[in-house]
Amino acid sequence: MQDLLQSAFDPEAFRRQGHALVDTLAGYLAGAQTGRRETVTDYRHPDEELAYWQADFSRPPAGDPLPLLEDVLERSIHLHHPRYMGHQVAPPLPLAALTGMLTSLLNNGMALYEMGQVSTALERVVTDWLARKLGFPAAASGFLTSGGTLATLTALLAARAAKAPGDVWERGTSDRLAVLVSEQAHYCVDRAVRIMGLGEEGVVKIPVDDRFGMRTDLLAEAYAAARARGLTPFAVVGSACSTATGSYDDLAAVADFCAGHGLWFHADGAHGAAVVVSEAYKGLVRGIERADSVVVDFHKMLLAPALVTAVVFRSGEDGFRTFQQKAQYLWKDQQSPEWFNLGKRTFECTKVMMSVKVYATLRTYGEALFAANVDALYGLARRLGEMIGERPDFELATAPQANIVCFRYVGRGGGGERENETNGRIRQELLREGRFYLVQTTLRGKLYLRVTLMNPFTTEAHLAEMLAAVTALANRLHPAGTAG
Ligand SMILES: *Cc1c(COP(=O)(O)O)cnc(C)c1O
Repeated sequence: MQDLLQSAFDPEAFRRQGHALVDTLAGYLAGAQTGRRETVTDYRHPDEELAYWQADFSRPPAGDPLPLLEDVLERSIHLHHPRYMGHQVAPPLPLAALTGMLTSLLNNGMALYEMGQVSTALERVVTDWLARKLGFPAAASGFLTSGGTLATLTALLAARAAKAPGDVWERGTSDRLAVLVSEQAHYCVDRAVRIMGLGEEGVVKIPVDDRFGMRTDLLAEAYAAARARGLTPFAVVGSACSTATGSYDDLAAVADFCAGHGLWFHADGAHGAAVVVSEAYKGLVRGIERADSVVVDFHKMLLAPALVTAVVFRSGEDGFRTFQQKAQYLWKDQQSPEWFNLGKRTFECTKVMMSVKVYATLRTYGEALFAANVDALYGLARRLGEMIGERPDFELATAPQANIVCFRYVGRGGGGERENETNGRIRQELLREGRFYLVQTTLRGKLYLRVTLMNPFTTEAHLAEMLAAVTALANRLHPAGTAG
């Protein structure tokens, strides 16, 4: 073998580099999780970041990868930091990351059972476990796929195959099909519908109530109006919970409506269906057990590194309806639902061995770990809601149901545009300083700061510090007396 290939695959070099990297990462975790690390992120302009890496790339190959890996580490945003409270991405469990190293090295493909025996069986175990937690009957089954967005498209394709007139997959359709969904639903629903060729009219938006949950009392009216326009609705998507505010739709009401109208009920539980593991919070998804399909992201509330998403069907056979194209060289009999050839049901041909990360977590710590995470994060968000409620210069968008809290600083008055500008600038300054990471969202024309508590190491003290930092920035931007 060529020398270069030989040395690049050298097991002893791997051992050395691996030990060094794990030492580095353990030190990193210790610094990040305790908050000893000064900043959560060091924000740089995209052009600056690009120039840095272009310059780096122009150098000859380094031989030793560690300086590069440390550079990536230092220049990244630190999800394990307790002052990280931004987007809904989990600080991965160290065990899940280690498992990822194993599965990356094995790289067992998974389109076909024989290429991924272990991960195929574990995928079945993990999705069966989830189906039970969701309250589904024994006939339920599911699979894992690469992210909630792809999972939503997969589920809606199954919904169309089950509920729309004719065989759309084989013959296409001239029916104007549509999906009913809350106006606060994740944009992946809109995207899936457009990918399916249904256009803008294919998404019928249902208004939300004061707490940003779907006005299920308007479903019948919206359905009738859509029919009158010549549309054929085939599904309703309930959010559990919504992304912007973490609001749970009334899934039992959606289930009733779907049952009454012969529609598919899809529950988008990408973020919040994880509460099924928690005694304290599982009531939020009452009715999810009546959904035809449910999507759950393990990389949000369930501590997995991205991407690991489950799609579970209450009636397992529905999961085989999505793709009925012929690929006979892979499957002897296209019609036989072989659970173990998972490529029949997923977009992916080659797929990451994602089940191993979830299985290893469950097998090592039990589902109590997931429950502890959900309870800690949802509990902390309720506490933050109370803390904001106690401060007259802050305003909550709505009392938090999940671990997502939207609020704004209103202390300087001025209202409307002025407050939007102030909160936007506060958020920009926070990003620049890098001590806290939170994001923003616009609801009914008002700009809110948005916190998603993803890190079980975040405490009430960090939250108080964050609110103090927001107040200090507001005072700096508009010193007392100058507010408009
Ligand atoms: C995050 C999210 C999605 C998208 O999932 P990805 O894994 O990011 O593709 C869909 N729906 C909801 C409600 C979400 O919160």
